[in-house]
Amino acid sequence: KRGVDLLHDPLLNKGTAFSDHERTVLGLRGLLPPRIHTQAEQVTRVLGSLRRKTSDLEKYIYLIALQERNEALFYRVVTDHLDEMMPIIYTPTVGQACQRWGHIFRRSRGLYITAADRGRIMTLLRNWPYSDVRMIVATDGERILGLGDLGANGMGIPVGKLSLYTACAGIHPAQCLPIMLDVGTNTQSLLDDPLYIGTPQKRLRGPEYDDLVEELVRAVQQMYPAACFQFEDFGNANAFALLQRYQDRICCFNDDIQGTASVTLAGLYSAARLSGVRLADLRILFYGAGEAGIGIGDLIVEALAAEGVGEAAARRQCWFFDSKGLVVRSRTDLVAHKQRFAHDHAPATDLTAAITELKPHALIGVSGMAGAFTEPAVRAMAALNPRPIIFALSNPTSKSECTAEQAYTWTNGAAIYASGSPFAPVTLDGRTHVPGQGNNAYIFPGVGLGVIASQATRVTDEMFLSAARTLASLATDRDLAQGRVYPELARIREVSSAIALAVAGIAFDRGLTRQMRPADLPALIKAHMYQPDYEEYI
Ligand code: NAP
Ligand code: MN
Repeated sequence: KRGVDLLHDPLLNKGTAFSDHERTVLGLRGLLPPRIHTQAEQVTRVLGSLRRKTSDLEKYIYLIALQERNEALFYRVVTDHLDEMMPIIYTPTVGQACQRWGHIFRRSRGLYITAADRGRIMTLLRNWPYSDVRMIVATDGERILGLGDLGANGMGIPVGKLSLYTACAGIHPAQCLPIMLDVGTNTQSLLDDPLYIGTPQKRLRGPEYDDLVEELVRAVQQMYPAACFQFEDFGNANAFALLQRYQDRICCFNDDIQGTASVTLAGLYSAARLSGVRLADLRILFYGAGEAGIGIGDLIVEALAAEGVGEAAARRQCWFFDSKGLVVRSRTDLVAHKQRFAHDHAPATDLTAAITELKPHALIGVSGMAGAFTEPAVRAMAALNPRPIIFALSNPTSKSECTAEQAYTWTNGAAIYASGSPFAPVTLDGRTHVPGQGNNAYIFPGVGLGVIASQATRVTDEMFLSAARTLASLATDRDLAQGRVYPELARIREVSSAIALAVAGIAFDRGLTRQMRPADLPALIKAHMYQPDYEEYI
């Protein structure tokens, strides 16, 4: 490419950083202002412009526009300032962006596949300009964060997640494909909105829906046989059904179920170092029994099995609340994945009373219900435990079961707290508590990198278990002393490489790869990590 084509290709464009020689040889002379800037100088300009924006949504729009014109610069900025940028390109701001997607829409990104494309999905995939796709994040927009059914507006999530695959693990941007499976929406305000960008009709359900997903999966298999397929923010019923259907058939996973489980388990391993209560002895009460909650419960059962705890006993350590109250055996309305955690107990609908009775060491919020962890509930946890574990994992921030400040205040600073979306540190009686971000963003980039680098053919629970242990092992004593059960976000590339190494190791050990194990596995991982530096084109 040369001339304006080069400037308009975000993967190649360097803007004012094209050298004098490149400008001559590549037909750029006159098309750029004369002064040549380094990438570092461009970063200064970007940060200045960004920080002058008065709202987070404006910052989101600015960063996406940067991504659309210069990916290397975008990833330089995001990678080097992850603490500042992640809340904008990911939760919570991406949630606002999705809610207003049709109104802030500028340029299309990713692939939109609709029910009307039945029979021609392959043709659509052929329109995608990059041939070496390795990581696909697909959603149908039915459960976007804790915000509900946002239909095609949910495209912000696959786009944001894939940006994190690149920023946090160095997966090459051209290897990433966001897919929106637009099968309609049942959200009336979107159907009524003339600027809504999706198909304005009610959701497709039943065999026609399943057939569409099947066609997509087959087309992807044919077109990109080495790609990993991540199911993201599907509604509860489809999420469980699709994972069950495909996890033993193709290289895929569901991040809401498996990635969330892994990051939460890591948080619990770290919490054990602080509280002294071992995982094998931990009683956990989950508020929310959906993809995230059940996913965590199932992985805990796996983790305990490795410590010699039998399955039935392990399940008894996990108690669940759903929208109808405590999940108990006598209930007749329980879907299969809840039944395996339904224990003998009287029905209960009051969380605080249930806490007092069940005496959990940990309370984990995965309900999307803001404020569900009330002051009496959190105080009840503190009355039972010297270091109560309070994880409010629902996203975005507005859906958090309780805030960091509430958790620390109501427990006089004793809580071991983590949240799905970031909260600022809280100072209480002269002591500063730094909440950890219990978000699957600590897990999926590394898992994806390990899968891609090893060319794994399956993504297994063992990999998520190992990812959890790896993540927990990287939390330092200093992290824990500050209250943070995870390593600092700034170390995310190191974290992702370590997780990738563990995941790839398992893939090779289990014979789940398309290639031979290399002598130097860390080198293989490193070779797959893209660095957002400018290349010399001449
Ligand atoms: P889901 O599959 O729809 O499950 C939601 C669960 O919450 C269901 O069991 C539901 O009960 C229950 N619930 C809803 N309202 C409730 C209420 N008033 N009282 C008690 N329980 C209630 O959703 P999900 O995928 O698990 O996600 C749930 C939340 O977790 C979302 O906010 C999401 O953002 C968050 N999440 C966070 C992460 C992370 O990395 N931090 C990852 C994934 C998800 P029923 O079963 O009775 O309907
Ligand atoms: Mn999700």
